[in-house]
Amino acid sequence: MPETEIYEMNLKEPICRICNAQNGQKVRAEHVYGGRQDQNFWHCGHCDAVYLSPPPTEEEEAVFYYREFENFMDKRSGGDRDWSGARRHIQTNQDQVRRRMPFLEQYLTKGNRLLEIGCSSGFMLQAFKEKGVHCTGIEPSGVFSDYLKESGDDVFTSLEAVEDHRVEPFDLIVSFFVLEHIRDPFDFIGRSLSLLKDGGSFIAEVPCVNDPLTHIYHIPAFERFYWSVAHHYYYNPKSLAFILDKMGVRYKMVPEQRYDLSNHMVWMSEGKPGGQGRFDDVFTRELIAQYKRDLKAKWLCDTIFLYIHK
Ligand SMILES: [Zn+2]
Repeated sequence: MPETEIYEMNLKEPICRICNAQNGQKVRAEHVYGGRQDQNFWHCGHCDAVYLSPPPTEEEEAVFYYREFENFMDKRSGGDRDWSGARRHIQTNQDQVRRRMPFLEQYLTKGNRLLEIGCSSGFMLQAFKEKGVHCTGIEPSGVFSDYLKESGDDVFTSLEAVEDHRVEPFDLIVSFFVLEHIRDPFDFIGRSLSLLKDGGSFIAEVPCVNDPLTHIYHIPAFERFYWSVAHHYYYNPKSLAFILDKMGVRYKMVPEQRYDLSNHMVWMSEGKPGGQGRFDDVFTRELIAQYKRDLKAKWLCDTIFLYIHK
């Protein structure tokens, strides 16, 4: 009998946190990075969602985001990003700005009002402002929200605070790597859409659980790293579509592959994060780009761009 099956016999099958199915739940990941021994990620055979069970309490979560999140991310980033302070964080994330812009550019109209939920150090807001867009941010992290307020940015610490403030509706709401951290995605998407003008768009970048490092290659070191206690869910197009169809919204999804061939080879050879671009002098740009294109064409990629139109 495989190890996972023996392990699962000792666990009570949870109810799916997305579709409430009471059967067809299987352990997807035994090890939760930063989590407890009794926490696992489960896969639902009905809606295809992967979810953390049992989830942390709301109190545990609030403390985590206020005090620990930057340190936690610093440990995970493998040296690619600097989480030691807002300025360094902005500098070391400029590659993210360049990568994301092609997915966003057509929605950035001068004079429009934009809300970024989870704006971190504000490195995307800075780029949006350069395009003449009026920006508001939401950032629960104490370090970053204090920095943004001091720099004169329009920033709130929660979605509730924006709602309470009765701000004018936005033309565009964006969030990058936030949705997977949210306990109730139906509530979060619904409330975000209610802050949007008719004709406005909500754009979210989300990790895709079809990431080849776990979905195809099964690298033990990656398995111990990928499944983070900071995430309530890991989505793929099917599980996101389940949520969005249930909500009756108009949407599309576009595949994206953030990590390159070098990063994947370093995971395979050294079992470590980082490694992005390491073999750029060995491979041609065409090969590096084609590798990503192949993964995206089959939706075996690490990221989803989700567009919801109101
Ligand atoms: Zn389900």
